[in-house]
Amino acid sequence: MTTQPPKRLANRLHHCLENIWLDFTRCKTKYSEIDVGVGLPDYPPSEHIQRALADVAMEGNTYLQYTRDQGHPRLVKAIAALHGPLLGRDIDPMSEIIVTHGAYESLVTAFLSLVNPGDEVILIEPFFDAYKSMTKLAEGTPVYVPLRPSVESPTSSADWVLDPQELENKFSANTKLLMLNNPNNPIGKVFKREELEMLATLCIKHDVICISDEVYEWLVYPGAEHVRIATLPGMWERTITISSASKSFSVTGWRVGWSIGPKELIDCQMISHQNGDATCATPVQEAIARCMEIELAKINQPCCHFTQQRTALLSKRNLLIEMARNAGFKVCVPEAGYFLLVDWTAFATREMIDDGTNIASDFQFAIWLLKNHKIATIPPSAFCEESKDTMSNYVRLCYFKTDELLNKIETYFASLNPLKDC
Ligand code: PMP
Ligand code: GLN
Repeated sequence: MTTQPPKRLANRLHHCLENIWLDFTRCKTKYSEIDVGVGLPDYPPSEHIQRALADVAMEGNTYLQYTRDQGHPRLVKAIAALHGPLLGRDIDPMSEIIVTHGAYESLVTAFLSLVNPGDEVILIEPFFDAYKSMTKLAEGTPVYVPLRPSVESPTSSADWVLDPQELENKFSANTKLLMLNNPNNPIGKVFKREELEMLATLCIKHDVICISDEVYEWLVYPGAEHVRIATLPGMWERTITISSASKSFSVTGWRVGWSIGPKELIDCQMISHQNGDATCATPVQEAIARCMEIELAKINQPCCHFTQQRTALLSKRNLLIEMARNAGFKVCVPEAGYFLLVDWTAFATREMIDDGTNIASDFQFAIWLLKNHKIATIPPSAFCEESKDTMSNYVRLCYFKTDELLNKIETYFASLNPLKDC
């Protein structure tokens, strides 16, 4: 999967040639019948969400022109109203929020505006792959610290933990940022309060800024508590909390995300945003603002979109777990999000899937599964640097799919007979 750089490519981008999303989207298009790879819903959200954008598009000129660069006024007000109580403070919509092109742009503006060449950025493995390329784009140095299984065969995302001593050793005078993803993609881990307190203590001790990517915040299942690190003592002033409409409203194509934090940090992101993207699309911001106001009025009620989405995904999670277990996979039950890690090693030997390349075995298994059984997945060692070996026992399945598709998987899983395939 190694790609040759285009001849005129600037040096600063040579480290980003391999991209799991591009690689697997290409393969998937060619072979897949069951796509549980890239994380996106295969059906639209409730009609009122779609309707909001259709309405805005037809309301004359106002929403068809540029809006405020730092964020459409109605949207930043709605974000402040929704997230203020979650973060336990009044948020100033005009200075403590920036709206970006998805969480992606919140992340990249944070990296580009806060990291100097040589600054160290702590990445907790497995990490959403973009964190590494963005660290390098900002000429920072990634410092990896793995979540490790606390038991031999993890059955829950809660079984993945940080070693406190190992973590502490990674902080140095050069550490600028801690990148936290809570809930985590791909494991689905929700960091416990004590774990966050440990991270917060180190950030404060070493004067480190925390970027907390919380895009899966509305998808935390019963049994886990989502604590926002910005709410811990001494953390608001050093934390940027990121979320997005992609996950909150299941519209990954609308490309609306936002960062919330102290003015001092949001001002930095704004300089990067202003000189790169400037303004995000007005109609989608207006539509998300309207949807947010609607959900805010029924927050935590069964009829709220966030509640309904979580309930639906919990049952999809359980359905997929049952089918994967019945097929013989060991699974790691996620506490949040819409990804399931399944351990494939009882299914196929490394020799069976060896394609003669040097790539990690989860990549080989994912390709083998795609070519031989038409199921598209994502190999999670793409999210690791130092713990590739542990992660390569798994593939990641996305269950934000229609029940029809999920039910079909059972038949495809049934064809997975290692002995037959040998
Ligand atoms: N962070 C994480 C952890 C993700 O999984 C994703 C992918 N959806 C993003 C950020 C990017 O989200 P968005 O679509 O809002 O840019
Ligand atoms: N966040 C999505 C996932 O984890 C992928 C986003 C992308 O296509 N880059 O599957």
